[in-house]
Amino acid sequence: MAPRQVIIHSEREIPGIRLAAQAAARVLDELCAAVRPGMSTLELDELAGERIRATGGGSAFLGYHGFPGQICISLNEEVVHGIGRADRVILPGDLVSLDVGVRLDGFIGDNARTLCAGREPSPGQQALLDATREGLMAGIAAAVNGNFVNDISRAVEQVVVNCGFAVVRDFVGHGCGTALHEAPEVPNFAQRQRGARLQPGMVLAIEPMVNQGTHRVNVDPGDKWTVRTADGALSAHFEHMVLITQDNAEILTWPKTV
Ligand code: MG
Repeated sequence: MAPRQVIIHSEREIPGIRLAAQAAARVLDELCAAVRPGMSTLELDELAGERIRATGGGSAFLGYHGFPGQICISLNEEVVHGIGRADRVILPGDLVSLDVGVRLDGFIGDNARTLCAGREPSPGQQALLDATREGLMAGIAAAVNGNFVNDISRAVEQVVVNCGFAVVRDFVGHGCGTALHEAPEVPNFAQRQRGARLQPGMVLAIEPMVNQGTHRVNVDPGDKWTVRTADGALSAHFEHMVLITQDNAEILTWPKTV
């Protein structure tokens, strides 16, 4: 079996990762507050670019493997990696998933949230949002020193499946901190192996992507980025970055302004 490679961040790096994570959390908050029906997703992406620059940092996604946006904006049946477009207008009742990555002084913050634009979510939308958020929080609760990556994966999956929804399997969470994607991967479904042991200094982006219908997804053959549910049913995405400590995980992207 391949060695279980993990990245442990030093005491010297962690303050910088904290600041980048807080910048990403602030931008995500600002963008969630700014989402309005009638806006195009390109307008939202441009606003994201402004707000990211105002932190003193830059987008961690722009140019990553050629990604053309400041942030990822995914509507309704779009799961992740949607690109802002001038001809894509947000409608009342759309589910809007925003994924914000900020690079600040060589450190990375990464977080995501789904909201309903312009009105209260329908009961079905609310159930999907609740299951995804609660799955994330269950994963964070399992992210403790001495546990294994698979404890996080199993905790997320259990909540989501108990709520009657499906976890996306083709995309997973990841280590994060000085690079956007670091070892280890953090799946949102149980594995056969327990994965890496969690230890202080590990920083993980835990990010369940949850579908109303099938777990299966397709990548848009045109833009090669946008991921959609295979059956066209809705999807939601919540993500926090956490630091493994001696005790409970520290949620680095918890917005300190609210
Ligand atoms: Mg991520």
